[in-house]
Amino acid sequence: MSEFIPLSVPNFGTKEAEFAAEAITSGWVSTSGAKVGEFEQALADYVGMPRAVAANSGSSALHLAAMAAGIRRGEEVIVPTLTFIAAVNPLTRYMGAEPIFIGCDDSLCIDPDAVEVFCAEHCTLKEDGLYNNKTGARIAALEVVHVFGNMANMPRLLEIARKYRLLLIEDATEALGTHYTAGPLAGKFAGTMGDIGCYSFNGNKIITTGAGGMVVSNHPDWTEHAKHLSTQAKADVLQFLHDEVGYNYRMTNVQACLGLAQLSRLEDFIAVKKARYEQYLAGLDGKRGMRILRFADDGGQVRSNHWFFSLDLRDTGLDRDTVIHTLQKQQIQTRPIWALIHEQADYPRNEAYGLDKALDYRRYIVNLPCSTNLSEADCDRVIQAVLAL
Ligand SMILES: *Cc1c(COP(=O)(O)O)cnc(C)c1O
Repeated sequence: MSEFIPLSVPNFGTKEAEFAAEAITSGWVSTSGAKVGEFEQALADYVGMPRAVAANSGSSALHLAAMAAGIRRGEEVIVPTLTFIAAVNPLTRYMGAEPIFIGCDDSLCIDPDAVEVFCAEHCTLKEDGLYNNKTGARIAALEVVHVFGNMANMPRLLEIARKYRLLLIEDATEALGTHYTAGPLAGKFAGTMGDIGCYSFNGNKIITTGAGGMVVSNHPDWTEHAKHLSTQAKADVLQFLHDEVGYNYRMTNVQACLGLAQLSRLEDFIAVKKARYEQYLAGLDGKRGMRILRFADDGGQVRSNHWFFSLDLRDTGLDRDTVIHTLQKQQIQTRPIWALIHEQADYPRNEAYGLDKALDYRRYIVNLPCSTNLSEADCDRVIQAVLAL
């Protein structure tokens, strides 16, 4: 029996073991200890931001971001429909807000044209913001998700957010390391261009702390508020006085140690991702109608982190679920892209626009194994299995 090839798993080595052992032997294993602050600073420095606030997951980081940004009950948020549900729930249902769903462009990220059409044709811009003509609700924010490590079309989305007075929230949970290398946004990292941004260190992400997340923002009061909310909103540490409803969203010192080790290896991970991606491209792209989706590079102006690889089956005549099942029998784990969120049980009545491409990608994409410890030989085994379908 051949060995199991997982879709995306952690890459831990001696450095992670050494760093975590340091936390364990020192006794600082919980949410106090110096490493959390060190990891926050290291992450902030890496993406070029003044401050980062650690959280115990990407989902809690997004919830903290929504609270810090001041989304209010009864307001609405423009969000993508082609993404993981944790990009949406924390901004909408956790907050008592409602989503308006928008489809994707060929980067798999939210389609700026469809956002613009919705704002221009279905909304009214008033002094205190944008209002949805259909519901009468104020639209507080636009959320961008940098899907699979692709950079969303930020020049356009920033312009739309400015024009329609929307806060811009970036879910960069999948895109740590993706940045502009040229053009007007040169040097800017995914997650750092809007009002507030989030990262995840879940086990399947490009770096992992087992579970964890981070919030970054250029608004110093927002990051401080996020920190406050993540630590039970304790206003007086000795007397246990709390000035609002907070959460226990803290990262542990052990996780921060893992994060420091992983962050130091991030550029090496990206190099491996790129090499495996190019191997798939050479092995599969153009064969029997198969297509490996390109990472959005905005005319050569973006360095993507190449996090997740997509095989597009639309011109092959092959059925997505049969492909996944056949590969599974050969011990190769693949998966379809997410079910669209506007079709999920919790969002039956929400508006959704510009869905054509999202529906197609949902139907035809299979994600291929992409771990940073996937060997060249195992990658070749996947390629041969796919060619034999
Ligand atoms: C992983 C992910 C999240 C949530 O992060 P967790 O750390 O798993 O809570 C949110 N949004 C997107 C797009 C993700 O891929």
